[in-house]
Amino acid sequence: MDIKSKLPARKTIALVAHDNKKQDLIEWAMFNKGSLSKHKLCATGTTGALIEDALDMKVNRFKSGPYGGDQQVGGKIADGEIDMLIFFWDPLTQQPHDPDIKALLRLAVLWNIPVACDRATADFLISSPLFNAEYERYIPELSGHMDRLKK
Ligand code: PGA
Repeated sequence: MDIKSKLPARKTIALVAHDNKKQDLIEWAMFNKGSLSKHKLCATGTTGALIEDALDMKVNRFKSGPYGGDQQVGGKIADGEIDMLIFFWDPLTQQPHDPDIKALLRLAVLWNIPVACDRATADFLISSPLFNAEYERYIPELSGHMDRLKK
């Protein structure tokens, strides 16, 4: 059985974009600067530096994606410290850290946080009334898993 856990009104939003998608994410973030400024931002290294520059806003930066940044973001999602993921991944280019990308997307879905992988979905997320509201999400109940290990 799943349990519930609140996503706060003021969210911590992780931003990640592959190189061919960085311009797209920067444009989206600049257009939505007013809405984003009500929340806390974090990002993989290079994406974070560009967003910080473009928005003139503090962005908590992890390592660059291929150097472990995606894994760090995934870890924070599992710890309940990231509430939303905007991840513009590149569908046309092979990435050296493909397993990390898959792991990040898997954890985002496992922990049931809102995820946008393209600009249209990001537009829908940011214009949702839930963007600035508390939201009760279901998260996995881990005790069942622990019991299974004891058998
Ligand atoms: P970057 O990482 O922001 O450091 O470029 C993004 C990624 O490739 O996952």
